[in-house]
Amino acid sequence: MALVVQKFGGTSVADAERMREVAHHVSRTVRRGDQVVLVVSAMGKETDELLRLAGEVSVVHPGREMDMLITAGERKAMALVCMALHHIGIDSESFTGSQAGFLTDNNHQNAKILDVRPSRVQASLDAGRVPVIGGSQGVSIDNDVTFLGRGGSDTTAVAIAHALSADTCELYTDVTGVFTTDPRVVPTARRMHNVSFDELLEMTATGCPKPAMRSVEYARTHGVRLHVRSAFTWQEGTWVDEEVSNMEQAIVSAVTHDMAEAKMTLAGVPDRPGVAAKVFRALADLEVNVDMIVQNVSTQGVTDISFTVPHNDLPRAMEHTQLLADELGAGGVTADDSIARVSVIGAGMRSNPGVAATMFETLANCGVNIQMISTSAIRVSCVVDGDEVENAVRALHDVFGLAED
Ligand code: ADP
Ligand code: ASP
Ligand code: MG
Repeated sequence: MALVVQKFGGTSVADAERMREVAHHVSRTVRRGDQVVLVVSAMGKETDELLRLAGEVSVVHPGREMDMLITAGERKAMALVCMALHHIGIDSESFTGSQAGFLTDNNHQNAKILDVRPSRVQASLDAGRVPVIGGSQGVSIDNDVTFLGRGGSDTTAVAIAHALSADTCELYTDVTGVFTTDPRVVPTARRMHNVSFDELLEMTATGCPKPAMRSVEYARTHGVRLHVRSAFTWQEGTWVDEEVSNMEQAIVSAVTHDMAEAKMTLAGVPDRPGVAAKVFRALADLEVNVDMIVQNVSTQGVTDISFTVPHNDLPRAMEHTQLLADELGAGGVTADDSIARVSVIGAGMRSNPGVAATMFETLANCGVNIQMISTSAIRVSCVVDGDEVENAVRALHDVFGLAED
């Protein structure tokens, strides 16, 4: 008998019919002799809808009230899924994040899990029931309801799988697995049979929305085996595991892109020790997540520093960097929010030179100008014009031979 955590995303529980299908899938798993713990997201686009409503009602959004509001979406879904299970004779009970034992910090709207104490979930399993947990939520050290952030239900699933020592954590979604690139951009993208935690982490950090990056980090840290698969076709999907070192590795496994970042340039800053420290400490204190950073060679004692920040953080980052620029006697600050990042990822890159060269040649052949470059041991990323990024993705997916045969 295996213990399986099954998490269903918004599209997988979007309406009554989908919920009944999910219930039937759970029933098949239970009949096979396995124990199941369910984690559900809010139905369809409900989280977006709740956020929109909050915006209509007020310009003031206290974190505590926002979390109370957003987590209502998952609570509604979990109760309904439970009823769908009862309807076909499966005894089940729903649990909020708090009831399921998710203790978090009090960083509302993006709370971090501090501990999972799943005694009630375990008791429910022991009693032969199917526990259904509302995703992306917990209770803070101040005893308030907290939301784990967008995509947080994946993290709920991984964390409960770890806390219960489950055999696998299945993340059900509206595609059949993790693809070699976004299937909406490249219809011939191939479903990956396996992907390593390291590769998937790089993918999710550079634009692949599935699974949520935090859940992949959690799974890697705690060794939770993931299976990303479809709640529509129910076929086998993508297994996420440790890298198998004796396997012949593809040099490039995936191409990702994201449009979520903007580029800032601080021009004409004095080239002396402590300047970069000052700029990036100020951004860190604002909790702005800076990503790519490029500093030019200095001429006549001054240099330019360019970096990327998430779109949402751009206004704050601009305001503060402008103040710093005045203080440092820098030339000025500019921003470009029409950029995109395209990345190629592959564990085989470690032992195969030439990937960056092929990537740059391919972009050149498409007439795409590279504005910034960054690398890790298994990734090369380029910042390019946002209008050109989909072309770049298609060309790179092609040149590295990733398409379906
Ligand atoms: P869910 O709501 O089920 O948690 P999301 O809607 O957040 O899932 O993410 C799933 C979507 O991610 C898919 O519909 C797919 O179009 C998109 N996607 C983009 N890149 C990839 C990729 N490389 N592999 C799989 N899906 C991807
Ligand atoms: N419903 C939330 C969201 O859309 C949490 C989740 O589904 O992971 O972000
Ligand atoms: Mg979705």
